[in-house]
Amino acid sequence: CGIFAYLNYNITRERRYILEVLFNGLRRLEYRGYDSAGISIDADLLPEASSKFRPPPLVFRQEGKIEKLVTNVYQEVHAVDLDLAQNFLIHAGIAHTRWATHGLPSEKNSHPQSSGSGHEFLVVHNGIITNYVVLKETLLRHGYQFESDTDTEVIPKLAKFVYDRLSENTTFNGEVPAETQEVTFRQVVMEVMRQLEGAYALIFKSSHFPNELVACKCGSPLLLGVKDAEEPETKMDQFINRDVLHDRRQGRSKEYFLASDASAVVEHTKTVMVIEDHEVVHIKDGNVSIFKFDTAKARKTGGLPRPAS
Ligand code: GLU
Repeated sequence: CGIFAYLNYNITRERRYILEVLFNGLRRLEYRGYDSAGISIDADLLPEASSKFRPPPLVFRQEGKIEKLVTNVYQEVHAVDLDLAQNFLIHAGIAHTRWATHGLPSEKNSHPQSSGSGHEFLVVHNGIITNYVVLKETLLRHGYQFESDTDTEVIPKLAKFVYDRLSENTTFNGEVPAETQEVTFRQVVMEVMRQLEGAYALIFKSSHFPNELVACKCGSPLLLGVKDAEEPETKMDQFINRDVLHDRRQGRSKEYFLASDASAVVEHTKTVMVIEDHEVVHIKDGNVSIFKFDTAKARKTGGLPRPAS
């Protein structure tokens, strides 16, 4: 029912601080109603970009109150000996409060929902995917196994499906040029959006794209907040437009917030932008880019490719 994300770029933040920002985000969204909550953070500092090995993100989620999640996360962090004082110069965390529409409130149905072992793609979702049955059937035929009863689970699975195909440079809906090119996080999400019907605000986290977040929306609310560490707090105190966002100096220390509701962002920054339907927000390397998803193009393409036989 509520989604939230926090990404600090070029500002050292302790794990404890990152957790508290995520928990606070959830507390602010609490009034919207919820039956379960969850978060995902990184297990450790991420290795060099060139390294193939990515430690899987950590996922904590459960049915019940946010404060129960908070207690359990700290217990778990303690149990596995994670250092709460560990510093992250960049870190992308996501969080969710769930109001179940498909699948009873339970741990497995809580978000983040995952692409599977290793959490290559994690998704928090507010809304309903109306064509999830068709997508699920196709993914099952492609060998994907489902763990939850949610409509949401098709989304991270689809992201993995798309990512694997694009990485293999397999033609996907006739879209990939013959020459090998780097798959981008945004590209994966846009291919996923192309398959989705219904209402959604989504935030994606991926072990393939550490330190990046992609969010998109169609029918459910989503806001972006940007806090420039070197800018006086009072400089802008109203909703900004896109030109202002792009004018902001690139690459400087920043903190980014994504949320279903301004109430979860305004305590951090007054620089808030309302994301519109079919927009895709990509936060990467201290910059945020906003793309418009081409719905006309989406309608032209067929469904998900069927398995070979
Ligand atoms: N339809 C999704 C589910 O039941 C998301 C519900 C929500 O917006 O919290 O898991």
